[in-house]
Amino acid sequence: MTNPETMLSDIFTVSEKLYHDMSISGMTDHKKLFSYLTDLGRILTQSDRASFWKWDKASHTLWTLTATGEDTITIPDTTGLVGQALTTGSVIVTNDPYNNPYFNSAVDKKTGYVTKSILVMPVANINGEYIGAYQVINKLAGDGTYDEKEDCRKLSLAATICGLALESDVFLEESHTDKLTHLKNRMGFFHDFERIYRPIIEDPDRTLSLFICDIDKFKSVNDTYGHNVGDEVLVHVSSILHDNRPEDGDVYRWGGEEFIMIMPDADLAAAAQKAESIRAFIEGNDCVTAEHIIHHTMSFGVTVFDPKTSIEGNVSVADEKLYKAKETGRNRVIS
Ligand code: GH3
Ligand code: MG
Ligand code: MG
Repeated sequence: MTNPETMLSDIFTVSEKLYHDMSISGMTDHKKLFSYLTDLGRILTQSDRASFWKWDKASHTLWTLTATGEDTITIPDTTGLVGQALTTGSVIVTNDPYNNPYFNSAVDKKTGYVTKSILVMPVANINGEYIGAYQVINKLAGDGTYDEKEDCRKLSLAATICGLALESDVFLEESHTDKLTHLKNRMGFFHDFERIYRPIIEDPDRTLSLFICDIDKFKSVNDTYGHNVGDEVLVHVSSILHDNRPEDGDVYRWGGEEFIMIMPDADLAAAAQKAESIRAFIEGNDCVTAEHIIHHTMSFGVTVFDPKTSIEGNVSVADEKLYKAKETGRNRVIS
């Protein structure tokens, strides 16, 4: 048994790091926060390992936001003790996992680690819906077994904070994502700009190009086939744009039927070429719905980002070129 003073000091060390990274140095993502919080639970329960799992109900998977000594682990949400804890909404304790039918020994088999005892706590958001689970493995103190009541008591605060952090992560991601096309939206664009693209425009040796594109005569698609079919065209176009986004850039739904693609390290010619290949692809790939085949085209305005001008100013430059593309007959790229 670790002496209480050492344990308290370990707890304060983690909480200090947590506060420092979040409120002093400014954390850019929650990954580190989850890793501190699982470390906290590991110390509190005197366990060898700890992990926090996110339940992605849409894709029916569970994956680790952080896990001691492991990269991300992804499993179907119907498997393992974590899956069992989440589907039943109850704490799972086993001090003999190899004889528990729900225990998934695949990770042990792969890594050579031997799991002897496990405790899993399902974690809910503030609406009481389960969104994740906290797992600690291999009790190091006493006889190496978990006591459900006592260890849950020790883990509860770290598990609750993990739940709140996860909820805020999910909420942030949702607020940056367009519900119809699943592309990032305008808020996501500004968020990414500060984190990913700002350093590029501040580097004199690098360039950042962008294009704005807009579906031609889209109003008439809605008027002719109805709004739902219009939505299907938007989803179709979005998936083409998404499939053709640069590896280190991205595409965003700027609004309505307008999209912006960001292309790091592409000069104007390369960016215009990219726009042209996407324009041609869209022209050649009709949107096939249950009842209609809809031919559609898009117009593009391309520009190289001017670091001396605001983001909005740069988008306006691209927008003027898009307007020119519309004026001169549509289904074309102006750079
Ligand atoms: P132009 O070639 O000049 O761009 O013509 P346009 O008809 O595409 O332009 P306009 O701006 O007149 O029309 C855009 C239309 O896009 C109007 C609006 O109803 C439609 N729209 C915007 N958002 C959505 C959406 O989420 N779903 C659907 N179905 N339509 C949308
Ligand atoms: Mg349009
Ligand atoms: Mg428009």
